[in-house]
Amino acid sequence: MILQVRAVAPFYKNGFVVGCERTREAVIVDPGDEADELLGAVRDLDVRVQYVLLTHAHVDHVTGVAAVKEAYDVPVYLHADDLFLYDAAVEQGAMFGFRVRQPPPVDVFYDMSPIHFGDYEVLVHHTPGHCPGGVCLQTGRTGERGTHLFVGDTLFAGSIGRTDLPGGAYDVLMRSITEVLFSLGDDAVVHPGHGPDTTIGREKATNPFVLEYLATKRNHGIQDS
Ligand SMILES: [Zn+2]
Ligand SMILES: [Zn+2]
Repeated sequence: MILQVRAVAPFYKNGFVVGCERTREAVIVDPGDEADELLGAVRDLDVRVQYVLLTHAHVDHVTGVAAVKEAYDVPVYLHADDLFLYDAAVEQGAMFGFRVRQPPPVDVFYDMSPIHFGDYEVLVHHTPGHCPGGVCLQTGRTGERGTHLFVGDTLFAGSIGRTDLPGGAYDVLMRSITEVLFSLGDDAVVHPGHGPDTTIGREKATNPFVLEYLATKRNHGIQDS
């Protein structure tokens, strides 16, 4: 699998080019302010972009959608529960003090059926909590268990997504992490929306927010019984 990541100031939000080494078909995940760098990577890699796949619609993850759409005119995918955020991209930018271009309309709402590029397949898992329409894009060879997880801002190396923004909910986020993401295999590589990669196994064993949540849940369980 071809995989390139780019991130630029001010958000240092990771944008990805993911491609099939045989067919050169590719997808772009979460194009933000680093869209030009992603378009450069697409040219250098000599891949053909098929889709823009969004993990969620916070402004840092969508500011480059317009540029990618202009370059390739490919469908943009989003979870319907994040449309209210996507539609408010300009207002979200203003909240952070940035002037943002309204991204073009969403073309496809994830219906949870697999998305294909070349020999690869993306399975879409709904992982709300950081925002209502957050998804995990589980990517791997078609027919095999995908071991690359594009998780947006749900889970980070040693941290978790914030839940104080509109539509965020702590308990919902922790269930998405411990019940959805943690079921996808300890060896699965997590590609977060910010910061370095990690693995499911490492976060299970060492993520302090996860360990605290699980310990609290266990204690409650003991008190309840
Ligand atoms: Zn976010
Ligand atoms: Zn983000």
